[in-house]
Amino acid sequence: MQPTSLAFQSKAAAALADPNLQTALGGIKTGWQRGRILAAERLPEFEQLRDQARDIKNHALANLDFYLEAFEARVLDAGGQVHWARDAAEARRIVQEICESADAKTVTKSKSMIAEEIGLNDHLEAAGITPVETDLGEYIIQLRKEPPSHLVGPAVHLTKDQVADLFEQTHGLPRTDDPTELVGQARTVLRQKYLQADVGITGANFLIAETGSAITVTNEGNAELTQGLPKVHVVIASLEKVIPSMEDAFTLLRVLARSATGQEFSAYTTVMTGPKRPGDLDGPEQFHVVLLDNGRTGMIGSKFQDMLRCIRCGACMNNCPVYLAAGGHAYGWVYVGPMGSVLTPQFVGIESAHTLPNASTFCGRCEEVCPVRIPLPNLMRHWREEQFKRQLMPSTVRQGLGAWGYLARRPALYRLATRLAMGVLGRLGKKRGRFARLPLAEGWTVSRDLPAPEGRTFMQQWRQRQRSRP
Ligand code: SF4
Repeated sequence: MQPTSLAFQSKAAAALADPNLQTALGGIKTGWQRGRILAAERLPEFEQLRDQARDIKNHALANLDFYLEAFEARVLDAGGQVHWARDAAEARRIVQEICESADAKTVTKSKSMIAEEIGLNDHLEAAGITPVETDLGEYIIQLRKEPPSHLVGPAVHLTKDQVADLFEQTHGLPRTDDPTELVGQARTVLRQKYLQADVGITGANFLIAETGSAITVTNEGNAELTQGLPKVHVVIASLEKVIPSMEDAFTLLRVLARSATGQEFSAYTTVMTGPKRPGDLDGPEQFHVVLLDNGRTGMIGSKFQDMLRCIRCGACMNNCPVYLAAGGHAYGWVYVGPMGSVLTPQFVGIESAHTLPNASTFCGRCEEVCPVRIPLPNLMRHWREEQFKRQLMPSTVRQGLGAWGYLARRPALYRLATRLAMGVLGRLGKKRGRFARLPLAEGWTVSRDLPAPEGRTFMQQWRQRQRSRP
């Protein structure tokens, strides 16, 4: 997928004017955002679990080479194969070769952000192999030829009516907007595809070093049918998904679903270890794990290492005021919301995504809700510094920031300048109490008035309040 992140502002403006999108995004607040709050309240040890989750991921990252080698050894012991992919092209080639060796015409897929990251569907289609998405949201966006707009709910940007229209056109059945009937239609189509597929491709939420297992969580059971019915199963996952033990996985699972959707646990948690064994009634004959680096080892030891703790729960976007107004497609690449604003510049280059770290009010809500305590605002700040250093912002903004930086390093001069500015603004705005337009503040005044300051700086008001305290 070609990044279009530089168009964030215009896409966000279009998103704000799209009533369907605004209706769909409104559901996140009352659904997942509220669900997380209630789930956390019901679990007294939730904050403690978050600390443990952070520590598990930090430990795994600090010993990544050890756990990856242990994972590979256990997969081989179980009769599976491990393929190491340095980048997206290598991962695509490996998956294609596995599919071709199985003479695959159709592959079923359960939701995998790594498959999105490497553009797997387009590649397989170009090679004459038909990928079929089996997650309901992914199935919907595949029909619409769109990328996902959310980590957990890829089609969360659509209303029920839009899905009803789509299914009427695609399935050729009488229109219905009954959710149960809509799901039933998708199920009927997909059941056939499961039976036709030669290869099943899944992602993995966690890879377990002590057993060589891959764990998936879904609410639809589609990953289970994807990995269990075809004769070949391919797991495609990035390196940082490896954690030491099954016990660690269950600690992480306890915070994952609660943070994502407010569920105590996802409906299906599946542990996949190796291919079908003698005596097993079902299961794939081949079990492949494709381990993708794609720049992640370069993040180890860098100021962005914390980002590798991400367990893709989506809580940061569910609680981000910018995401909730602009939606996922405005971010212009695979990863969206606050986590996408950190990861996208990493993967596609800051030159192609420098708008994203600015798509934040720095309210800090994303960090507050992240189950593995990733300091997202800090990481976005690092990218803003890079943006400034590489001169990627307009010269007026650079000059403004340069002037502000000069003053900020000279407190006495800063206080004098702000006192003067507040005094002038206070006098100019005294009559109307607000400004409809103001130089350097067009971003604010384009859609609302700027309240006129009372004529004193924040510091002056603060000092006066301190003095008048009893
Ligand atoms: S950054 Fe944190 S909150 Fe956001 S998806 Fe990753 S784990 Fe979840």
